[in-house]
Amino acid sequence: MKVIYCRDFGLDCNAKMRGNSEDDVINAAINHGVSMHGQDLKKLSSDDGRTEIAAKIKEEEG
Ligand SMILES: [Zn+2]
Repeated sequence: MKVIYCRDFGLDCNAKMRGNSEDDVINAAINHGVSMHGQDLKKLSSDDGRTEIAAKIKEEEG
């Protein structure tokens, strides 16, 4: 299971995004950033944005 913690982006937020693949969890993080934090979809979904998000991915059991 791939997970991304929103707080790893410096936000005061306890959200944790999970996915079976790197793409899944990156997409979940993008959706969360846009809907919950008003972040820019174009910026987050650009190659640079996705690379930055991918760097925060952690592996967790279950
Ligand atoms: Zn958040």
